[in-house]
Amino acid sequence: MQRYGSQLKSCALLHACIDSVLPVPSPSFYSSVHSISGVWLTGFFFRRRAAAVCRAGGEPLVIEEIVVDPPKAYELRIRIICTSLCHSDVTFWRMKVCFFCPFHCCSSGPRQASQVCDATLQDFPGIFPRILGHEAFGVVESVGEHVDEFAAGDSVVPTFLGQCSECVDCKSDRSNICSKYGFMPRPGMLRDGTSRFSDGSGNPIHHLLGVSSFSEYTVVDVNHAVKMNPVVPPSMACLLSCGASTGKKFGVTHFINPKDLGEKPVRQEIIEITDGGADYCFECIGLAAVMADAFKSSREGWGKTIILGVEMHGTPVSIPSLEILHGKSVMGSLFGGVKPKEDIPILADKYLNKELELEKFVTHEVDLKDINKAFDLLLQGKSLRCTIWMDRLK
Ligand SMILES: [Zn+2]
Ligand SMILES: [Zn+2]
Repeated sequence: MQRYGSQLKSCALLHACIDSVLPVPSPSFYSSVHSISGVWLTGFFFRRRAAAVCRAGGEPLVIEEIVVDPPKAYELRIRIICTSLCHSDVTFWRMKVCFFCPFHCCSSGPRQASQVCDATLQDFPGIFPRILGHEAFGVVESVGEHVDEFAAGDSVVPTFLGQCSECVDCKSDRSNICSKYGFMPRPGMLRDGTSRFSDGSGNPIHHLLGVSSFSEYTVVDVNHAVKMNPVVPPSMACLLSCGASTGKKFGVTHFINPKDLGEKPVRQEIIEITDGGADYCFECIGLAAVMADAFKSSREGWGKTIILGVEMHGTPVSIPSLEILHGKSVMGSLFGGVKPKEDIPILADKYLNKELELEKFVTHEVDLKDINKAFDLLLQGKSLRCTIWMDRLK
């Protein structure tokens, strides 16, 4: 990894020299000092950095200069090399309300196993300004107290799902959802609920899912980062922090466009093509009606439906109990069942062994300043994954 490590040191030196006169060094400025080897300076003189800020739901992101505070205890500050836009970012971007809250999103600190919450999407106000992005690759710039697992210069992918490796769920093979520091929809840092981002007026900017990668620098909890093999190219490593684990594209033999079927239900077509129903059905877009259709398209006796999408309206799923009685089952899978710290390195090895064709996921590339183009491409159905480069390091 030494490529990015040495580059980062050069940049850190540069920041120390020019922060007092130039708030945000330009990418060309970075490249002009790549050969300078410097003293490792962390945190000191750290000033404003560029970030794409979501000021209001559904509106274009705004490129702003922000302040990224140093990491507190159990936290890392990461220099993001590249990030990409996922459908879940669009879900948060569109929301006029906060993500549903199974674990009391507005409270801070580790979740208690006994906590129960029946809140739905409609129960929470919108949370803006916010830095979106939860799929990224970066290099650790500095670490807070009590961080032994990472050091400055390490290649990492931040993850929206935490892994403490100590709780009942982390120790079990049957779950990938850490019951202590797992999924974190609340808008602040995991442990104290506060933000590490502030805007030009000193007002706080909210985090997203413990990652917030649409920023040159971000701060994440130690449980929300995974070391990455530096041999893996940044844009491929980036995919492993979400898209490659939850996205489904390959192995498709039939594609059905409901518009081509006329009055015929999609489930009927699937049942005919598969001679009785599919063995496995995956719902990836987050719509209750499609989840129910997936279930009804599965085979009696052993058909299994796996819910991967986040139901964006909080609508309950209605499925016939008689079909359950006939042996069909349904289950959910957050992050594709991946335990981040254990499984992401395995996926990286599979990529290096050419068992995972990650390249085919990336259809477009843009710079951070053009991030709204990435939204347009995704919304128009033109891109699968668009890599967003912070300064075009490749
Ligand atoms: Zn995602
Ligand atoms: Zn855990």
